[in-house]
Amino acid sequence: MIQRRKTKQIMIGTVPVGGDAPISVQSMTNTDTADTEATIAQIIGLQEAGCEIIRVAVPDLESAAAIREIREAVSIPVIADIHFDYRLAVASMEQGAHAIRINPGNLGGSEKLAKVVDCAKLHQVPIRVGVNSGSIEKDLLKKYGYPDAENPRALIESAMRNVELLEEQDFFEIKISIKSADVLTTVSGYRRLSMLTNYPLHIGVTEAGGLIGGTVKSSVALGILLHEGIGDTFRISLTRDPLEEVRVGYELLRSLKIRERGPELISCPTCGRTRIDLFGLAEAVEKHIQKMQSPLKVAVMGCVVNGPGEAKEADIGVAGGRGVGIIFKKGELFKKVKEDELLPTLIAELEKMEEERKKTSH
Ligand code: SF4
Repeated sequence: MIQRRKTKQIMIGTVPVGGDAPISVQSMTNTDTADTEATIAQIIGLQEAGCEIIRVAVPDLESAAAIREIREAVSIPVIADIHFDYRLAVASMEQGAHAIRINPGNLGGSEKLAKVVDCAKLHQVPIRVGVNSGSIEKDLLKKYGYPDAENPRALIESAMRNVELLEEQDFFEIKISIKSADVLTTVSGYRRLSMLTNYPLHIGVTEAGGLIGGTVKSSVALGILLHEGIGDTFRISLTRDPLEEVRVGYELLRSLKIRERGPELISCPTCGRTRIDLFGLAEAVEKHIQKMQSPLKVAVMGCVVNGPGEAKEADIGVAGGRGVGIIFKKGELFKKVKEDELLPTLIAELEKMEEERKKTSH
């Protein structure tokens, strides 16, 4: 049983973060934010996949100006990600950003930061203090050295220094992240940070890599932290379509039994006994179930040796034979169909099950 660390709760739009709120899954768009059509389309795809908070880069005033139209077209809160230019932070909040992510120390001094904080108070916008290993102040690097797993102090002190800059201005609606591209530095950094503060923590590994490398790195680091009760919201950073980030995020939460969303696919790795195109079938089923919300177990198995056992345990399952498939529902033999009818039959049944769930949950 995971014991969650107690943190303060803040609101990102309508989504609570911290305290006893569910650990939320975030992503970040990779469109040009000023291209509202592309950005909105990407966010809508992400929210359908379960993304709960979206961050958009705001590198210029055109991007800040686009936030109004974006937030009105989507249903999840929008965080504006800003570096260096306090005017972009102010403009983003004036345009309705639900939160901003800044590094308070790099906005150009206390007067500029005061303007940002005044605007955040006026619009009731929380601030994520986001520090990265690559952007630590020179004096901290000199004092502690570049952060690593043994000594992540530069990262932590940088975050706490930036938090203090906000607290000095009586601002407390804060969330903190300390990102590193290194798994062990991420784990030791957040462990220590969580002992020093009760602000909610956004956890993640930055520049984690592509689909496989990034998924492994993020899952190891975030898996350890979440299992220790550390982390209130997260993003899996991948050099991929952000939809994959959301998928990996939910699989991570599911594997730790923290949250479930949508069906779970159980599929065998295939072997010399496989007699159907299992890779193709599993991929098509996986694609389909991403849009579903029911917490069903779906098994796709290659043969009748181990297949029926797993398929029977699932809510719905398939065991492949030579050119045919046996479908089980809730442990009972449901149908035997030809291989080319397997996918449509399975999808039709899955849709029925999703509909039934919708009816019973209303
Ligand atoms: S379920 Fe059958 S086909 Fe799949 S790995 Fe096991 S034995 Fe091989």
